[in-house]
Amino acid sequence: MTDPILKFKNQVAIVTGSSSGIGKACAVHLASLGAKVVVNYSSNEEEGKKTLDEILAAGGEAILVQADVSHEEEVKALFNQTISHFGRLDILVSNAGLQKDAPFLEMTLQQWQKVIDVNLTGQFLCCREAARQFVLQEENVEEPQHSELAVGKIILMSSVHDVIPWAGHVNYAASKGGIMMFMKSISQELAPHKIRVNSVSPGAIKTPINKEVWSDPEKYKDLLQLIPYKRIGTPQDVAKAVAWLASDDSDYVNGETLYIDGGMTLYPEFADNG
Ligand code: NAD
Repeated sequence: MTDPILKFKNQVAIVTGSSSGIGKACAVHLASLGAKVVVNYSSNEEEGKKTLDEILAAGGEAILVQADVSHEEEVKALFNQTISHFGRLDILVSNAGLQKDAPFLEMTLQQWQKVIDVNLTGQFLCCREAARQFVLQEENVEEPQHSELAVGKIILMSSVHDVIPWAGHVNYAASKGGIMMFMKSISQELAPHKIRVNSVSPGAIKTPINKEVWSDPEKYKDLLQLIPYKRIGTPQDVAKAVAWLASDDSDYVNGETLYIDGGMTLYPEFADNG
């Protein structure tokens, strides 16, 4: 029987964009449950190293790899380094993402393209490499285990803005809306390979990406109006849901989006209106 505490023992996980925020929490949490973790950063090596050090200090196993998820060769190198170091891959948390906000009338092609490149094309590149590796591993198994359980798990980081329109952030909302159909389509295609693909869609989570909102008391008060549960989420709220989706406990869950949003998608404006 698997130790319930170390449910990811002998499993290898890549968490993209784990130098900060939600990705960092996912990397630390998966490592605390026994996974060998590849911590990925794009440009901030110092922050990436902090995630690595936190995992190692807690007795976990991890390596640090630089890669910009929107560059094909760097993504390939990230997966190659993972396999050459740990020998296999079991979990991809495709988390890296960013915002380049602007009113639509003023949005530049560069702002549009950067967000699509990282948030959507980055997902394509990472998920494709992960799926190729999962299939390869299955083909090379000498004695198949004939297990009914998934041989590879992919969790994509989406957002409530895959369903909630967001004026002033159309590049971001379009990228997250795109993740929804991308995730469902590859889930349908990869399920026969026993690869599970799901998304998590956080609401407002306290990280550097939205510091401008939660660090301003007025904006924070306005934000709470949008959250029936009346608190901002933590990166750990998301990490625990990601760990569940990466675990065998959710083995029959495939092609789903799990909203981790304190009820933000419940249209709270309608609670006493409409
Ligand atoms: P964050 O800014 O703290 O973290 C983003 C991470 O992505 C960083 O580690 C950054 O280095 C990395 N990254 C950015 N561009 C990259 C690239 N080209 N290649 C590799 N890594 C890159 O913000 P966060 O809130 O932790 O965001 C993580 C994910 O969660 C994003 O996909 C974001 O859209 C999503 N999300 C966040 C919230 C929220 O409220 N914080 C809500 C919904 C969805």
